[in-house]
Amino acid sequence: MAAARNPTRTVKAGTIQIGGGAPIVVQSMCATRTKDIDLTVAQAERLRGAGAGLVRIAIDNDRDAEALIEIRRQTKANLVVDLQENYPLAVKIAPHVDKIRYNPGHLHHVEKEKSVEDKVRWLVSIAKEYGLALRIGVNCGSAAPEFLERYQQDHLEALVQSALCHADLMEKFGFSNFVVSLKDSDPNKVVQANRRFAAARPDVPLHLGVTEAGLPPDGIIKTRIAFEQLISNGIGDTVRVSLTLPNDRKHEEVMAGLQILKDIKEGRFVSVPNFGKGLNIISCPSCSRVENERFVELAEKVKDLTAYAKKHRLTIAVMGCRVNGPGETDDADLGLWCGPTTVHFKRRSRELGVFGYDEILARLKTELDRLIREQNSPAVPC
Ligand code: SF4
Repeated sequence: MAAARNPTRTVKAGTIQIGGGAPIVVQSMCATRTKDIDLTVAQAERLRGAGAGLVRIAIDNDRDAEALIEIRRQTKANLVVDLQENYPLAVKIAPHVDKIRYNPGHLHHVEKEKSVEDKVRWLVSIAKEYGLALRIGVNCGSAAPEFLERYQQDHLEALVQSALCHADLMEKFGFSNFVVSLKDSDPNKVVQANRRFAAARPDVPLHLGVTEAGLPPDGIIKTRIAFEQLISNGIGDTVRVSLTLPNDRKHEEVMAGLQILKDIKEGRFVSVPNFGKGLNIISCPSCSRVENERFVELAEKVKDLTAYAKKHRLTIAVMGCRVNGPGETDDADLGLWCGPTTVHFKRRSRELGVFGYDEILARLKTELDRLIREQNSPAVPC
């Protein structure tokens, strides 16, 4: 039985429509280096061929922006650009894309003298000039500092209020061609955050995703948990399944997304009540920011190595880059993020050091064993 959808507005991005009763759009993201035009075009086309209505590309610098011109020429995919900390690049890439995603939590990194409101006004003016869609992409690991400060006791509310505030800014500047996303690596938090936002703004189309869901099949199961609960209640207009996969299998993200949507539409719900109660491994889906291609292999090895600890309620995070790695591992018991030749390692907020790709697994096991011993040891009386 098809779920009744929230009455969201229609947002246009290239040849597709998001919201307004249109079929839910599955999207994905290239993990190739953007400046490697041939590989990026090939991956964008493969994602499009698998059924991706939108293909996202990361642009971090002028070289990526120049490569985008040629990528645009060579692919028919509807392109979304992901702006991380360098939002002024929007002016360079706008003529060559259909949609821009910005993260409210990253706007403060550059041009610190300008207000967030002025930066959003400028982004909106670019989107209007080039007929683009925008995505306000709020992420658990990089919430805007002013909202974290205001909602110190409720991290989810900080995310929701940040998204609501930016949606209000869009409208203040006379712009409605935008969608919102609220992502976390915990599917239950994704459900709660999106429910809260949709209750306040049922008219705004939502892009759903469980960020850093990790390797399949666990990453697909986590995503399913969130999508089943949201989409069956009418929430969600476009989705991405973020999986850690090698480049030649990246299109499996799209296949997984289509399958989940089909199952929900046909009433096939996969109940996994105890999923996530034991060892939780989160890993990012990788993107052009990965500086060492051994990242995916490392994530797979971490999963294999730690299988013996699957009953322990611990979280290990494996991230592909130094840009988002430190923030995205903050909530994990053990966090790893990849640099060009080394892997950074931390235990909760404490940095444990930097290790070679051939050393890190032994170091991880030592620290995991220590955590397990501490979990098992009786509480010390005070
Ligand atoms: S953590 Fe880094 S490499 Fe992984 S998806 Fe995020 S930005 Fe890309």
